[in-house]
Amino acid sequence: MIIVMKKGTEQSKVARLIQELESKGMQPVPLYGVERTVIAVIGDERILDEHHISSFPGVSKVMSVLRPYKLASRETQTEPTIIDVKGIKIGGKTIAMMAGPCSVESEDQIMSVAKDLSKMGVKILRGGAFKPRTGPYSFEGLGEEGLRYLRQAANKYDMAIVTEVMEIDQIEKVAEYADILQIGTRNMQNFNLLKAVGKTQKPIFLKRGMSATITEFLLAAEYILSNGNPNVMLCERGIRTFETETRNTLALATVPLLKELTHLPIIVDPSHGTGKKSLVAPMVKAAIAAGADGIMVEVHPNPEEALSDGDQSLTPEEFKDVMKEARKVALACDREL
Ligand code: PEP
Ligand code: MN
Repeated sequence: MIIVMKKGTEQSKVARLIQELESKGMQPVPLYGVERTVIAVIGDERILDEHHISSFPGVSKVMSVLRPYKLASRETQTEPTIIDVKGIKIGGKTIAMMAGPCSVESEDQIMSVAKDLSKMGVKILRGGAFKPRTGPYSFEGLGEEGLRYLRQAANKYDMAIVTEVMEIDQIEKVAEYADILQIGTRNMQNFNLLKAVGKTQKPIFLKRGMSATITEFLLAAEYILSNGNPNVMLCERGIRTFETETRNTLALATVPLLKELTHLPIIVDPSHGTGKKSLVAPMVKAAIAAGADGIMVEVHPNPEEALSDGDQSLTPEEFKDVMKEARKVALACDREL
């Protein structure tokens, strides 16, 4: 951390700040210039609160050198994290395809889609059993019954499951059935939930908050990592902007940017990212080209009858074409799918 003092700050104020920094275990090195004093702080600055330091009399500017997220940062771990989900490696050369309906609606629905997807080589089945809905009159999922259908389908077709957990009280139940716990966009800053899933060893699929900055996204991951769970993957699912033509704005530059900032695997969800089925295929290809480690797509056997997100869901037949196209892009990018 670099602390720039205001012009002509009295020595006593500089001394007071130095004392504070030393009491936090830092090694402050004051550099006395002609006009102002600059303090270079040696030590792990992440334990310092920038706002607290800024509040000291005489302080003009505080500049952090290290990222505020320690465990998620590439500065701490240069090698990529590879998460093993029942033998499926996420974060390596192979791109992890995750697909399935927005919500689990019936045993037949999830069985039928799992059958089709597994034939295409999809190894991770998605489907919500506990659904966060914008309004209280929408379908909220089948709960544990949905988890049971998911598990039966996944077992039958040798797939892993990713499904959302909305509350601390649901973690134990969802973890009994699921292989990956999803934290939805609306819960990205539910810090108590993040801490609680951090205390499990289940892989976590953390979706970006729809209004979250990249730093906030990585700090949310840091909550999980710092509670002892190293298996976190990050999902870009689009953010809120002034645009109304698409449901969200799918920020694909996030992918290479996150790759620079963190070692965690990056997934892209073009279904929620665009809200339009016609945009899913091109965005899958673009996401792979941008360096994504995985893709999540909503696929429903009968989108027009879906209880949620039918307008952005592909049929299995349509998704088959997406897989074909995606494979070509993966190959061109020296990846596998
Ligand atoms: C979902 O994937 O089912 C979902 C609700 O996504 P998000 O949290 O990104 O809206
Ligand atoms: Mn959905």
